[in-house]
Amino acid sequence: MISEPILLVADKKKKIFDLPGYQACGQSGERVSVLSKDHLIPLPEGSNLFFLPDRDPVGFNAASGTYETLDDLYPVAAFIPPGYTQTFTVAYQERARVGILPLFSYTPVAWYKGRIYVPAVRIDRRKNHNICSLDKGLLARKISVFKNSSNRLIHHLAGCAQANFCPNAINFFLGKYECPLPTSPACNARCLGCISYQPQGSCSATQPRLTFVPTADEIAEIALLHIKNTPRAVVSFGQGCEGEPLLAASVIRRAIIMIRKETSRGTIHMNTNGSLTSEVEALCEAGIDSFRVSLNSAQEELYHRYYIPRGYSFMDVQRSIAMAKCHKKFVSLNYLTMPGFTDREDEFKALVRLISKTRIDMIQWRNLNYDPLLYFKRMKPSSGEKLLGVEPIMTRLQKQFPKLRHGYFNLPKESW
Ligand code: SF4
Repeated sequence: MISEPILLVADKKKKIFDLPGYQACGQSGERVSVLSKDHLIPLPEGSNLFFLPDRDPVGFNAASGTYETLDDLYPVAAFIPPGYTQTFTVAYQERARVGILPLFSYTPVAWYKGRIYVPAVRIDRRKNHNICSLDKGLLARKISVFKNSSNRLIHHLAGCAQANFCPNAINFFLGKYECPLPTSPACNARCLGCISYQPQGSCSATQPRLTFVPTADEIAEIALLHIKNTPRAVVSFGQGCEGEPLLAASVIRRAIIMIRKETSRGTIHMNTNGSLTSEVEALCEAGIDSFRVSLNSAQEELYHRYYIPRGYSFMDVQRSIAMAKCHKKFVSLNYLTMPGFTDREDEFKALVRLISKTRIDMIQWRNLNYDPLLYFKRMKPSSGEKLLGVEPIMTRLQKQFPKLRHGYFNLPKESW
């Protein structure tokens, strides 16, 4: 019986196999370490396995007691489903000519007790984005109900559901959980890992961006349908297929007023970069219920290196959070998590300061979908900082801020 998690690799034909004698490793920034059983959970249902081109895997040779880079083989990583946060990235060395990895997260995989394991935490037990057992025939029938609709946004969501399998778009047609309300083709940031826009020479964006601004009537029609059909409904501005919704705040404001004229049910939510505080204030006054503000870092310089903001700063983001809290709105952080970066001691201290200052309600621990080694090259965090570990910082925050919620998905107001 093998007692330690074994390295999984792929050959040139993309055949995946275990390499007895080599223990599985994980990477945290510059540091490579052996994955122990305590780090691992069974590969979650809905994960996808990737083979990483232009790269050599790193394993721990148990006989020699050394880390080895294995030529002529390829690293294998998992893209784990929403609800799980990775605690290490896959360990590898880049070859001389290396292309950028597509916009996914790359969790190491290990062979242990006859199955595949990954280092991850199940941070949210809800199944909002689980489309493993999706009935495509039912989805097509639900979409066909709207075939004669003049609402452009419904047809956009039908495309998102059927071509990109966007879980929120699917959930709108099936009358479940959270419904997307994309509104803004424009953005005032240039995030390195933006999934709807990538500059030439980078990797491809994973979702096409919305090309029009819907009217308040189009938005309100969809939101009201979802609220009517769905228990504990959430309707959300700020989706993967758009830019920054605060740039479309005037139409969103009108839509919120129309929705609230009809019903007080449902949670009206916005996922945002939090850049424009005056627009946040206007939406609070119109009746929005909650915000989720995205950050890769609680440190100004590292935030700016990733977001590349145009016409706003990290200070404005903090002001927007304070404004939303001042209006008693529920505020979450979408904390884009990268092992070896998020769990650095200086980052942890900055996050603690931010939570203490703003009294946010929740952290969503979402994996940062970006080429891991390239992320560190672009971020250039100072070297030598102590790493606390992703799971330990979650535990420390739970102790320090007992009322702070931890999860992955937006919450309906009934759960606040
Ligand atoms: S704020 Fe959102 S839409 Fe804008 S660049 Fe960043 S990820 Fe893309």
